[in-house]
Amino acid sequence: MKPSIYDLTQSELSDWLVEHHEKKFRASQIWQWLYEKRVISFKDMSNLSHKTIELLEESFIIAPLKEVVVQEGEDGTTKYLFELTDHHMIETVLMRQAYGLSVCVTTQIGCNIGCTFCASGLLKKQRNLTTGEIVAQIMKVQHYLDDQGKGERVSHIVVMGIGEPFDNYKNVMNFLTIMNDSKGLHIGARHVTVSTSGLVPKIKEFAENGLQVNLAISLHAPNNEVRTSIMQINKAYPIERLMDAVDFYLEKTNRRITFEYIMLAGVNDQAEHARQLAELLKDKKKLTYVNLIPYNTVEEHNNYQRSSKEDTLEFYNILKKQGINCVVRQEFGTDIDAACGQLRSKQMKKEKVKK
Ligand code: SAH
Ligand code: SF4
Repeated sequence: MKPSIYDLTQSELSDWLVEHHEKKFRASQIWQWLYEKRVISFKDMSNLSHKTIELLEESFIIAPLKEVVVQEGEDGTTKYLFELTDHHMIETVLMRQAYGLSVCVTTQIGCNIGCTFCASGLLKKQRNLTTGEIVAQIMKVQHYLDDQGKGERVSHIVVMGIGEPFDNYKNVMNFLTIMNDSKGLHIGARHVTVSTSGLVPKIKEFAENGLQVNLAISLHAPNNEVRTSIMQINKAYPIERLMDAVDFYLEKTNRRITFEYIMLAGVNDQAEHARQLAELLKDKKKLTYVNLIPYNTVEEHNNYQRSSKEDTLEFYNILKKQGINCVVRQEFGTDIDAACGQLRSKQMKKEKVKK
């Protein structure tokens, strides 16, 4: 099976062209076709010679996925289920925000981190997505927008779909480089957020990377006991080590970190948890903020329930009173299974019934 041309950064494509006895500058022409004019066939790249087009056709495909289901929710959230060339399914979500159009991408098939509340973790990691498979999710959504003819552009990206992005570090970094390239979609790094469950060595590596991309960390608990009970990763990288990596990141980048905190009734949402969380973050108030996330119930994890509005509000108030920046996350597309992994798992169940 041929690789996708979306796998390559512009400089990798230049090198590839030179190796294949082509002119280096063709890379920027090809990029213009892919990312500005957004063609879906090499044949449409009309300023390239037949020979170059043939070489590209022999060597690459363009999009390594096709859409299976597209669901539009009442709030304009659109969910795409894509099938990859090896028939695995992945999901991508487009959200309409006040500040623009934000797309949530998947980075792996399944996930090995094993958080006990998450629909994605129900499937062990089958493989990493290639760079091209991540890029193609954005391009497919952009093609949809182009077809609607309203001139809308994907302006923001959140790497918060299925998978642990830092467990697929190189491909995710190349994806971010391609999205940020001024000759590509040119999505500003500050408009991009990567969420990790807390792979400490990679947080440090990310801190030293020049990209100005935002970082979010799935904290979900203020102490090791609760965190280990819901996130296995906490055994390998307990809160103390995570906070060391956070300090390192803040010192290196001086950029804000978001802490994601899913509100699970009776598990991590009590007043004492809020006080512990405020204590944990008290010396980093200026450069951190907490995102309280309403839990989307997952059929297979029926031991977890969403926190009540009262508990969420009390939790929020305690954090605020301690001077911690904090928001309760707005929900998108609950009518179309937009929560992490839910459309995909529903489709898989349907397929099983069909078989
Ligand atoms: N693996 C990465 C990124 C993908 S998950 C991570 O864990 O950070 C993106 C976010 O969605 C994480 O904060 C995750 O904890 C959260 N999440 C997972 N399942 C959820 C659910 N059922 N309801 C609400 N948020 C969920
Ligand atoms: Fe993986 Fe993130 Fe789900 Fe945890 S929350 S299982 S890290 S996708």
